[in-house]
Amino acid sequence: MGAAIIIFLILGLIVTAIFISSILTKQRRNRLKKRSFPPLWSAVIENNLPIYLRLTPEERRRLQGHIQVFLAEKQFIGCQGLQVTAEMKITIAAVACLLLLNERGEYFPKLRSILIYPSTYFVNQTVAVSDYVVEERRDARLGESWVKDQVILSWEQVQRDTQNWRDGHNVVLHEFAHQLDQEDGKAEGVPILPKKSDYLVWSQVMTAQYQQLCSDIQQDIKTVIDSYGATNPAEFFAVATETFFEKPQQLLEKHSQLYELLQRYYQVYPEQWI
Ligand SMILES: [Zn+2]
Repeated sequence: MGAAIIIFLILGLIVTAIFISSILTKQRRNRLKKRSFPPLWSAVIENNLPIYLRLTPEERRRLQGHIQVFLAEKQFIGCQGLQVTAEMKITIAAVACLLLLNERGEYFPKLRSILIYPSTYFVNQTVAVSDYVVEERRDARLGESWVKDQVILSWEQVQRDTQNWRDGHNVVLHEFAHQLDQEDGKAEGVPILPKKSDYLVWSQVMTAQYQQLCSDIQQDIKTVIDSYGATNPAEFFAVATETFFEKPQQLLEKHSQLYELLQRYYQVYPEQWI
């Protein structure tokens, strides 16, 4: 009986501690969001992310608040001797936080650090080429998202992609869409959705659209969504996110169901920004 009471008390203390911690986090974030946005930061975003000025004043205000929280909570690490600058941090934060305009109240909770390489980086990989033979390969990468706690980016690619907001390619949108997908610990193309009933609709639309992309690629049909999306459902969600933000009009015309699904999820109308 005594042991049961002690366990009950410990559980009660843990629940209370979690509750208090979440309230304190919310309060800290609200204070960060209310900070005035430094003019230098605005200048960097206006210069590096041309669509920024096309956002509505309300979207810009919310984005600025999210950037404040993001920069306060995430760590940036330069790789291969790269000196991380304010410009790099602000640009990456601005693009990543476009995915948070739906006000879910989460800030890529698993992510701790963003590693930045100056340009394309190389990774040694062991690949099975047959049942008995493995090969060591040097793989060129522009970005990666790890389930555990890291996003890795090539700064050269980040700059190229933020300046060109029309080609459907954006390494920051891609890797941070993976972070949303990986928030529940699994990379399968399904982020955490607001309601239980949303999962069935998500699965029906995403599966049909993914299969259509795979079939179009096999038949050499030109597609709005990049062929890399046909790799697997997780890549499909990341590539569809890039397409939604950068080629929204074409996505709406050719894949209206997918557009509407992503519009409901991200709660933005990117065709108004372009
Ligand atoms: Zn990917």
